[in-house]
Amino acid sequence: MLTAYNEKQERVLARNALRDALYFCPICHEQLILKQGNKNIAHFAHGRQCAHHSSGETLLHYKLKLLLFHILSNYYNDVQLEPYLSGIQQIPDIVVGDNAIEVQLSPLPVQQMRKRTEGLQCAGYRVTWLTTLPKYRQGIYHLNQLQQSCIDPVHCVMYGIHPINYRLYRLNNMMSLTARHFHADCEPIAYEQLLADDARSCVGMTTVRKLATARIIQYVIQCRRKKSVHDPVLSLIYQMKLTEAQVIQLTGFIFPEQIHVHTHPVLWQLKVFAALRYQHDPYHALAHCIKLRQFATRTYSSRAIIEQLVERYRKIIKL
Ligand SMILES: [Zn+2]
Repeated sequence: MLTAYNEKQERVLARNALRDALYFCPICHEQLILKQGNKNIAHFAHGRQCAHHSSGETLLHYKLKLLLFHILSNYYNDVQLEPYLSGIQQIPDIVVGDNAIEVQLSPLPVQQMRKRTEGLQCAGYRVTWLTTLPKYRQGIYHLNQLQQSCIDPVHCVMYGIHPINYRLYRLNNMMSLTARHFHADCEPIAYEQLLADDARSCVGMTTVRKLATARIIQYVIQCRRKKSVHDPVLSLIYQMKLTEAQVIQLTGFIFPEQIHVHTHPVLWQLKVFAALRYQHDPYHALAHCIKLRQFATRTYSSRAIIEQLVERYRKIIKL
């Protein structure tokens, strides 16, 4: 933590803390250890694990929090660094008015992120999650679990900080291609614009797209390489005696709901196609194989998403 309470219950920035004074955690009241030094950013640490805090705040995390705090303080009067919100027993990284900003760099289960979001929302805050900018290779963004959790699925945007130059970027029009690969437009955005940034003007994806033929073929080749007779894609292709051309024609549709889906579009579309061909219930077939993505900001009804996907797929292949 960058701040703590002194014996007079005043909040003190670690940088201004005194070596021989006592400082306490606002949540668990444990006495904290002040860590200062040439290499360190001054901060407070728990002697033992405090259940209320995520452990392992890194140097980069401290740096980014301070950077955000200093930049926003130039533009807003009411910027708070790590304020303790006693009503919900949470310490968001930055609060400006009714906006709360959480900077998350280390992996954290999405359930915990959502719990924090819900707590802050109950206390009346609008929550924005920032994480590191995803890697970009050959026109595709590669998102880890944490980065995927930070996506705002309503507007198909996420905010990412460049880990070396610390600049802030917004990925717009995010389109999920596979479990980790996304298409997106990347735009730099000034930190001071973050709170005024109306991501709500981004409508996300509204039309149906198709995965490039080369990507569909590449995926099937990957499945073949696994050399497993149990590979679901290969079994489905074999079972239905589909040619490569048919697989390309029948699968690889990217519907707007794909942002919620981890499962590769070729796989789940083959499953639904098989269910329709053999007159099984396509909803159950899909519900059985699909893995849905979870987000830090809100929850969704998986039933509604799966029904929507089945309906859209049936419509597009006219079955
Ligand atoms: Zn504590």
